[in-house]
Amino acid sequence: MSRRVVVLGAGPGGLAAARALRRYLPREVTITVVDRADEQRLGISLLLVMRGWRNPAEVSVRPADLLRDGVSFLQAEVIGLDPAGQRVHTDRGELPYDALVVALGAEVVPEMVPGLEEAITAGAAGHFYTLGGALQLRERLTCFAGGRILVVVARLPYKCPPAPYEGALLIAERLRDHGLSDSSRVELFTPEPQPLAVAGPAVGQQLAALLAERGVALHVGQELSAVDTARREVVFSSGTREPFDLLVVIPPHRPPAVVRAAGLVGEAGWVPVELPTMRTPVEAVWAVGDVTAVRLPSGLLMPKAAVFAQEQGEAAARDIARALGATVPEPEVSGRGRCWFVTGAGEAGYVEGEFLAEPTPVVRLYPPAPEHFQTMEQELAAWSAQGQG
Ligand SMILES: Cc1cc2nc3c(=O)[nH]c(=O)nc-3n(C[C@H](O)[C@H](O)[C@H](O)COP(=O)(O)OP(=O)(O)OC[C@H]3O[C@@H](n4cnc5c(N)ncnc54)[C@H](O)[C@@H]3O)c2cc1C
Repeated sequence: MSRRVVVLGAGPGGLAAARALRRYLPREVTITVVDRADEQRLGISLLLVMRGWRNPAEVSVRPADLLRDGVSFLQAEVIGLDPAGQRVHTDRGELPYDALVVALGAEVVPEMVPGLEEAITAGAAGHFYTLGGALQLRERLTCFAGGRILVVVARLPYKCPPAPYEGALLIAERLRDHGLSDSSRVELFTPEPQPLAVAGPAVGQQLAALLAERGVALHVGQELSAVDTARREVVFSSGTREPFDLLVVIPPHRPPAVVRAAGLVGEAGWVPVELPTMRTPVEAVWAVGDVTAVRLPSGLLMPKAAVFAQEQGEAAARDIARALGATVPEPEVSGRGRCWFVTGAGEAGYVEGEFLAEPTPVVRLYPPAPEHFQTMEQELAAWSAQGQG
């Protein structure tokens, strides 16, 4: 009987796993990718949409086009996992599997902060962590007539550790562009003891200096506990209240409900995996990307970023192919990666590092420059072109 590999999620992790599986496994092994969405985009493009530099159609691609030959794409909602019976329940039927890759990412849940959803509905708050959120925030910034904007990281961990800082810098730049900087102020609040704690103190200081230079005030060690829409104030767990005219939140993240219900979540709140195989403790189930918890030698968690999801997808594919009898290279996870850091019109820096280095990650922040922005644009164009060629 032919064997079946099912990949849940068509984000960077799931797509990387599916493509590598197709390279490594003979054609009689079927590979099916399941996702509720028939469009995908890179996280960084949400910042460009929020800033008004891109429209959704310019940054979106269809996973069916990215996957092409030899991998089936099923647009469906995953509604249940049955690890004992080795099958997935979707709203379009059941999928039995011999190997399962869970790449369902992290969902963003504003409802986890009391009052936040109400503030978003009332137009007092917004975020750029989904396409809908980025478009809505873009509108709110267009209507913003000046005042105090707070950018608040609600909980750790969240996707792409540099993104809140990019968001704050881009919003500050937008205000300058529209002649609103004298009547406005942008302030960033994070629960971390320093910005980008996973990258170490030197990067934190560099980032703090960049924010100061561009007029963004930084407040560390502040945990958001509630939003009071009526008074337009955020409340921190310390009891401090801060007034705002517009609140930009990095909403809390958690694993999707279907992953939590299947009992795959471990003590860190995410799916535990073994490196470098990306095996979970559950028989025939691998997990990659944002849904996982990879503990670094420093004790912190591996950042949730596409670059790591892709490397893990490749590693899981190799391990699955070996488990199914194919002769392929051993899985490897280096934890090496680079994230773009967009700071303004035509300029970007990047954060690059070895996150699995011992005893702590070795990370550098490369300061903003026009040539990095151009390279980023080329990479984004190449990614979109994959679905058009
Ligand atoms: C503003 C921003 C900027 C970013 N910038 C960068 C960057 O510069 N570099 C970088 O490396 N990373 C960046 N990221 C992070 C990056 O986007 C994520 O880490 C990456 O998308 C994770 O990939 P993944 O495959 O694990 O999950 P995802 O990309 O989240 O994919 C999960 C998929 O699962 C699907 N899904 C979930 N639940 C179900 C269900 N029940 N049924 C069916 N389908 C389901 C979803 O539709 C989704 O398509 C950024 C993120 C943001 C928000």
